[in-house]
Amino acid sequence: MSYVKNLKCRECHRTYPKEAIYVCEFCFGSLEVDYDYERIKSVLSREKIEKGPKSIWRYRELLPIDGPPTVGFHAGLTPLFRAENLAKELGMKELYIKDDSVCHPTLSFKDRVVAVALTKAKELGFKTVACASTGNLAGSVSAQAAWAGLNRFIFIPADLELGKIVGSLTYAPNLVAVEGNYDDVNRLCAEIASRYRWAFVNINIRPYYAEGSKTYGYEVMEQLGWRTPDHVVVPVASGSLLSKIWKAFNEFDKLGLISGVTAKVHAAQAEGCSPIVTALKEKSDIIKPVKPKTIAKSLAIGNPADGVYACDAIRQSGGSGAAVTDQEIIDGIKLLAGTEGIFTETAGGVTVAAAKKLIEEGVISRKESCVICITGNGLKTQEAVSDHIGRPYTIKPTLESFERTLRSEAKVKDEVWLTRHPSP
Ligand SMILES: *Cc1c(COP(=O)(O)O)cnc(C)c1O
Ligand SMILES: [Zn+2]
Repeated sequence: MSYVKNLKCRECHRTYPKEAIYVCEFCFGSLEVDYDYERIKSVLSREKIEKGPKSIWRYRELLPIDGPPTVGFHAGLTPLFRAENLAKELGMKELYIKDDSVCHPTLSFKDRVVAVALTKAKELGFKTVACASTGNLAGSVSAQAAWAGLNRFIFIPADLELGKIVGSLTYAPNLVAVEGNYDDVNRLCAEIASRYRWAFVNINIRPYYAEGSKTYGYEVMEQLGWRTPDHVVVPVASGSLLSKIWKAFNEFDKLGLISGVTAKVHAAQAEGCSPIVTALKEKSDIIKPVKPKTIAKSLAIGNPADGVYACDAIRQSGGSGAAVTDQEIIDGIKLLAGTEGIFTETAGGVTVAAAKKLIEEGVISRKESCVICITGNGLKTQEAVSDHIGRPYTIKPTLESFERTLRSEAKVKDEVWLTRHPSP
């Protein structure tokens, strides 16, 4: 029961069989999964999706596997909710958060792509899976491959946050810390992938893996009541998530599951690594690689594999982009925590800060609806904020010591706050 026809070159449209390949032999374009949309249209409906599994697999017809799903049964279907407090702060009428900081099992949107990639890797007969990661992919491949009983090799830049390293090592993968940045790690992995018969989720099985990101977009539409928002702000590393959200919107439209795509898609990047936002601002078709320097390590890809496709999607949608400083990222994390009670990682700080900027610039109208994409959990990047959130009040275990601190340090809004019980 497969709806996948074959792989197809994104540039010259030559077709290829459904194997572990990712580049066109003729033009070096990247390969993409091609579906039989006629057949999907004849079997898929809103009702069918609503009755499906409470995970990404409710969109199974639009995912690139031939047999049933075998990995990641609880990934996806994360909350999308109206962010009233943050909306008030930003002067927005209709603002939503799509919250993958609680995605199962490893608290980032990468659990979606890995569920699809590992199901496909098993279908293709691989016994060993691998990845080059900026952090969250490492954790998700380590965890889900442990569950699936696959050998796993994980390659990361050596300077990753402790939470990302521990969040991978605990699942006992072969974790390889490379002295270099992500782009160096990725280049090395491409060489390793051509030598060993391993499924590198973001290299030789990338066409399948990347499709998993579409589920983030499908859920946004379903949870909004079968429509797209007017704006969506997406964090961008390789550009895959952004281009797949755009693809998801257009697929649902093509299948008649929504009536029209209203969404403008906006890219959020850190100033210290903003090749895509720079290309947009310069109205250039060429993405100039950069050397990343930002606290948003999960987004620190200087040479984005899907950069041109992300730019195409943004331009087609009429969207834009914004780059933010490290200080703005920290402020963005604190703003989301203080208004909506959500602790996101640095990538989420980038997205909140970029959305704020786009709203203030008038690119996103305060009267229109907007979804902010939160993709990872703050407990994994604690060092980004630990010096910017104050310290606990340390006291002796006495009432006297407590009250001294209350008088000298506590943040109180007014005196009523300090009202005591009446004396007996
Ligand atoms: C990987 C990642 C992204 C961006 O992913 P791309 O598809 O490579 O653009 C966004 N947010 C978080 C938290 C990530 O880990
Ligand atoms: Zn080609």
